[in-house]
Amino acid sequence: MTTRTRVAVFATASLNGLSRRLHMGSGTVAGGRIGLAIAPNLLETLGAGRRSAVVSGTNGKTTTTRLLAAALESTGVPVLTNATGSNMPAGHVAALAGGPADAPAVLEVDEAYLPAIIGALHPNALVLLNLSRDQLDRSNEVRMVATRWREALAETICTVVANADDPLVVFGAQAATSVVWVAGGMRWRSDAAGCPACGGRIRFDEVSWSCECGFARPTPDVDVEVEPDGRTTAVFADGRRLPVVLLIPGLFNHRNAVLAAAAAEVLGVPADHAFEAMGQIEGVAGRFSVQDVGGVSTRLLLAKNPAGWEELLFLVAPGTSPVVVAINARIADGRDPSWLWDVPFERLSGRPVVATGERSADLSVRLHYAGVEHERVADPVEAVAVAARLGGDRGVETIEFIGNYTAFHDLLRANRAS
Ligand SMILES: [Zn+2]
Repeated sequence: MTTRTRVAVFATASLNGLSRRLHMGSGTVAGGRIGLAIAPNLLETLGAGRRSAVVSGTNGKTTTTRLLAAALESTGVPVLTNATGSNMPAGHVAALAGGPADAPAVLEVDEAYLPAIIGALHPNALVLLNLSRDQLDRSNEVRMVATRWREALAETICTVVANADDPLVVFGAQAATSVVWVAGGMRWRSDAAGCPACGGRIRFDEVSWSCECGFARPTPDVDVEVEPDGRTTAVFADGRRLPVVLLIPGLFNHRNAVLAAAAAEVLGVPADHAFEAMGQIEGVAGRFSVQDVGGVSTRLLLAKNPAGWEELLFLVAPGTSPVVVAINARIADGRDPSWLWDVPFERLSGRPVVATGERSADLSVRLHYAGVEHERVADPVEAVAVAARLGGDRGVETIEFIGNYTAFHDLLRANRAS
């Protein structure tokens, strides 16, 4: 390590430590930026010779990263990870500068940065979840991202663990020399209607998809069986059948856990050990946790784009408890909330609903056209209280709070402060 690199690592770790001591947050981005300013190749230096896995895709990055990190930690080694969701190079540098040089790393990576991060880190395993529309005003168009992934993966020798159910992911991952295909699921299909190979139309059936040009779903190396009662089993090509039992809810999380288990095997952790460790995770950065919000038992759920809403509306569908829907449109959310019209809010019809957040007026119009009776309450904590009152007559114990990115974190912060 050169003197310049040592200074950069010291500056990154010091700034992050200082930031934590002053309770100014984990400081991950600030420290990482300083480090990269001093030594622009810092990520390559910190990644050299290190065992690592990278997780990317539009939905489920933070949770899958947490699950995979838990699987590796179960072997008794410290694991470096960007648990706060800082998924661009400054966050990666901060995660790696903060720990031992030989510790393995599990990093969440923004979809657009993936080619650069693969080039710098040369990870052993790369998990690809899905690609869907997100942050319409500033994000890249999904087929363009898939094409960039494809170009980057043609140049790498790492093992790719990819979702066989998403045609865009398959298009990107196909270029890699070593791919483990997993039945990762995809309830939201509206971004994959056009074939990325020929521009024709992808046809989906219950479990598979294909295009007339021959581009089709690969046979999964790891399949996922789901019983009507929700019990999930991972079925490996070598005949192993492993139950997937998690504390966090949702079939999408079970499928993410199977992708994480397949990646754990690439890194030398048997899948059964990985599932056991992942089964201990109760919440991920506040998501899926049940908290007391102003005296009301509330399950906190984060959905940042139509694909995420599709999954969470399916998750809450069997219940009758009140649902608070919270929408902001700050930079981190995407300024353009027109995606609200892509979300099937019709499914909330017939149960108590409260609209809140800075864009609750836009949401209220959307709910009106969806035929969903609702109340509109500007303040999120007050909205939870109103929802509890609406549900009170039904003897409901826990209400559902689904917020997009900053609306979710606003409520988490307000709840910690109270
Ligand atoms: Zn085609």
